[in-house]
Amino acid sequence: PRQRHYEPRRPPSLFEIREMIQNVCSELVLDNSQLHKVMTAMEKSMNEGLAKETASTASVRMLPSFVRSVPNGSELGDFLALDLGGTNFRVLLVRLTVEGSTMMSKIFRVPDNLMKGTGEALFDHIAHCMAVFIEENNIDKSKKLPLGFTFSFPCKQEGLTRGKLISWTKGFKASGVEGMDVVELLREACHRRKDIDIDVVALLNDTVGTLMACAFKENNCEIGVIVGTGTNACYMEKLDKCGKLEGIVDKNDRPDQMIINTEWGAFGDDGAMAFLRTEFDDIVDKESINPGKQLFEKTISGMYMGELTRVILEKLARDKLLFGGHYEAIAQPHIFPTKYVSEIEAELKDDQEQTFSKTYSILEDIGVEGLSTADCANVAYVCSVVSSRAAFLTAAGIAMLIRRMGKKEIVIGVDGSVYRFHPTFPQLLDEKIGELLGNSNQEYRLMLSEDGSGRGAALVAAVATRLKQERGE
Ligand code: BGC
Ligand code: MG
Repeated sequence: PRQRHYEPRRPPSLFEIREMIQNVCSELVLDNSQLHKVMTAMEKSMNEGLAKETASTASVRMLPSFVRSVPNGSELGDFLALDLGGTNFRVLLVRLTVEGSTMMSKIFRVPDNLMKGTGEALFDHIAHCMAVFIEENNIDKSKKLPLGFTFSFPCKQEGLTRGKLISWTKGFKASGVEGMDVVELLREACHRRKDIDIDVVALLNDTVGTLMACAFKENNCEIGVIVGTGTNACYMEKLDKCGKLEGIVDKNDRPDQMIINTEWGAFGDDGAMAFLRTEFDDIVDKESINPGKQLFEKTISGMYMGELTRVILEKLARDKLLFGGHYEAIAQPHIFPTKYVSEIEAELKDDQEQTFSKTYSILEDIGVEGLSTADCANVAYVCSVVSSRAAFLTAAGIAMLIRRMGKKEIVIGVDGSVYRFHPTFPQLLDEKIGELLGNSNQEYRLMLSEDGSGRGAALVAAVATRLKQERGE
């Protein structure tokens, strides 16, 4: 055979390295035709969740909230609210007056050992925090204020004040809670300490609180979305589309609608998202506390976005496309929280000179060796690929709901740390929804929901109290 002449080895240029990195990331870049496929697949999953025959096995659970009217602005009174579901636990006192609402609140940490310990210890902690709050704010204990409990996990509700936890998500794993009525567990914990008595008038998901808090200001808000530690959406659905509610709720009841908590975070758990999953998604899922569960959530929300980015960076470092091949530091699980994604992209957006000083110091703090400015630019690129995909997938879900609901005008209440703190997520989300709706003449507006889980809980409690009074109960 002919002798081949090898070219002298030269290191790849910065341009070639970027090209190779783009190549590794290419599967994470989704075009609109893939996103339309997501819309179709998700709508199919939602229909399965609503139909009587398929509801019990559907991956997207479409949970009835038993909330059937949005606030009409006349809600008044003092309410306690509890908010459990993210990194923090909060107790709030919300006062709804004709001038608007005021709030006092206190944040308590939920230590990791309580998230993963026994349910009894977790609920004892919640009751303890409530007692501290009531004491510190001199709230009259004899009054027994109505309480709204925002519990941001999938619950099978049988009424406004009852709900069984289906399964924990987002790093919680306390024993003895799944399958139990969480309102009952809260009540029991209060009884155990004897110094507080509560009157739970509403149990709700954070998406429902978000929708309600926006609807208080904008009557045509009919979708609520969270992109925070976890992700989820709820929307107002017609009863005649909820086959599984037949015999539970009378279709002729007015209003003939109910807010449905979709639990879209579990979309894909039945394989419906296989066409877009990457090797990186698989790694993040496998190493999570709930493998095979919440697959849509794991491509989007704050609990996973940083880790997903880290897994890609590790691969690139091992392939010698980053950090001169020094991968040890970046190979440590969870060393790269989602906060870093936001900070690095904020710098990418604002720093005209592209000095990457912030990015540099983040990576140095982690302990990355062999760092160059080109590395910083490439890390920022990977961050933007991951967060753009998250925004686009969220957009697909929202666009599908808007299309399905068919309203001419609709407001979407949104909250959560990713939506609030990521520098480009809100705009990417908004623009992509528009693209996916095409020229459908449907007008939509995203609205930041100011503290849905607190204010919203009080509003659900208030609406429930108002309806009770109207019925003369
Ligand atoms: C939970 C939802 C919740 C969402 C946002 C998900 O992990 O399953 O119930 O609404 O996180 O907090
Ligand atoms: Mg929250």
